[in-house]
Amino acid sequence: MNNGNTASSNGNSLLVIGGGVAGLTSAIEAAEAGCNVILIEKSPFLGGRAIGFNLYFPKLCPPACGFEINFRRIRNNPRITVLTQAELEELTGSTGNYEATVKVSPRFVTEACTLCGACAATCPALRPDEFNFGLSKTRAAYLPHKMAFPEEYVIDRNACIKDCTACVDACRYGAINLEQQIERKKFQVAAVVVATGWAPYDATKITNLGFGQFPNVVTNVLLERMASSNGPTAGKILRPSDGKMPATVAFVQCAGSRDENHLPYCSSVCCSASLKHSTYIHTLDPEAQVTIFYIDTRTPGLLQDFYAKVATNDQLKMIKGKVGRVEEDPQTHDLLVTAEEVITGKKLTQRFSLVVLAAGIVPQTNGLPLALTQDEFGFLANETPGIYATGCAKRPEDVSATVRDATGAALKALQCAVRSAHHG
Ligand SMILES: Cc1cc2nc3c(=O)[nH]c(=O)nc-3n(C[C@H](O)[C@H](O)[C@H](O)COP(=O)(O)OP(=O)(O)OC[C@H]3O[C@@H](n4cnc5c(N)ncnc54)[C@H](O)[C@@H]3O)c2cc1C
Repeated sequence: MNNGNTASSNGNSLLVIGGGVAGLTSAIEAAEAGCNVILIEKSPFLGGRAIGFNLYFPKLCPPACGFEINFRRIRNNPRITVLTQAELEELTGSTGNYEATVKVSPRFVTEACTLCGACAATCPALRPDEFNFGLSKTRAAYLPHKMAFPEEYVIDRNACIKDCTACVDACRYGAINLEQQIERKKFQVAAVVVATGWAPYDATKITNLGFGQFPNVVTNVLLERMASSNGPTAGKILRPSDGKMPATVAFVQCAGSRDENHLPYCSSVCCSASLKHSTYIHTLDPEAQVTIFYIDTRTPGLLQDFYAKVATNDQLKMIKGKVGRVEEDPQTHDLLVTAEEVITGKKLTQRFSLVVLAAGIVPQTNGLPLALTQDEFGFLANETPGIYATGCAKRPEDVSATVRDATGAALKALQCAVRSAHHG
């Protein structure tokens, strides 16, 4: 891996934007086929959304394993240049012959860092931990998370106390440089892979479901962090109102998805994700009553076997019915969930100690300085030769589909690089 200080690119190189599962896959596959790759990631670490999950469906294995293998492939490959806190500022030229200008924001921590953590230990400033969706805080000098790759501290200057130099004073290795500036780097590339992924739908917009109004209504991504041993509750799923294990949990499927007022499309992974989440709860408390309210269960292909396996648990109830309302009992902070059951046609209201909204996937595709076509929902279409979208920036999909798609995107981009080498 090249850290970007001596990065080289030529007309046969590729630029990959986004360091989640999709971008990592495209970058590694192309580099292992012999191409120079510049991988840019806007956050301080690689891995995207999936690195924050507790387990992956359908195998229920920790994401750490797969990521560790990919990080090793990156570490061992001098053809890959990784730039974190980096975004594409401008792309000029045409297919096979682009010039990319990449803006790299400073980390304020240099390569002299030994990861001793003295900076974070003395830092007096706190900031919301975005890795935990604000459920916990970090210091302004922080390691983004335990598995962060690159394993490097970073300083959030916006969170610093004015004129504070506590981290500089504490660092025995002189590894903190608060004078670092934004850098702009230029690369010649033949093709671009866009793998900017997704963000969770803002569940506060679904006002009838109570997120942001009632403490015990959480979302699926929050549940992932609670269930993770390196998360804000050290792997325990607890009611935010009183810190107790919930005895009854409702999952509200299609929270925002397949809804003309929010996301008209199916986010594709939420049914499998909630089935997975029910296993998190039953691992912690086998007696907990879990109910999944759904419109249709969409678990295509082999995921149907996962559904069938999880559904054998007697403590899991599936109710076909769209939830219309979530209300709170102010005495207990329990939630009252109202849905119309499709099979009986009856309206039912049930009490739960925790409600999890299976909020959908929103493509992260705005503001890219690229000539790319978006569909009506913001997902990218592959209509520009030389610029290839992949992963959840293109459509909502699970990790294995993302890996397949990103391998295909790498191949299309490689074809551009090879053509450009023959003509150049
Ligand atoms: C609740 C939930 C649970 C899930 N659980 C599973 C599961 O168990 N198993 C499974 O197979 N799938 C699961 N998925 C689906 C999985 O999250 C996706 O398949 C996967 O994250 C797609 O990877 P990606 O690289 O396309 O996107 P992302 O993971 O979003 O990665 C995109 C990366 O691009 C970066 N980026 C964004 N914009 C820019 C920019 N302008 N410049 C530079 N970098 C940028 C981001 O910071 C990020 O690192 C789940 C989804 C949800 C919603």
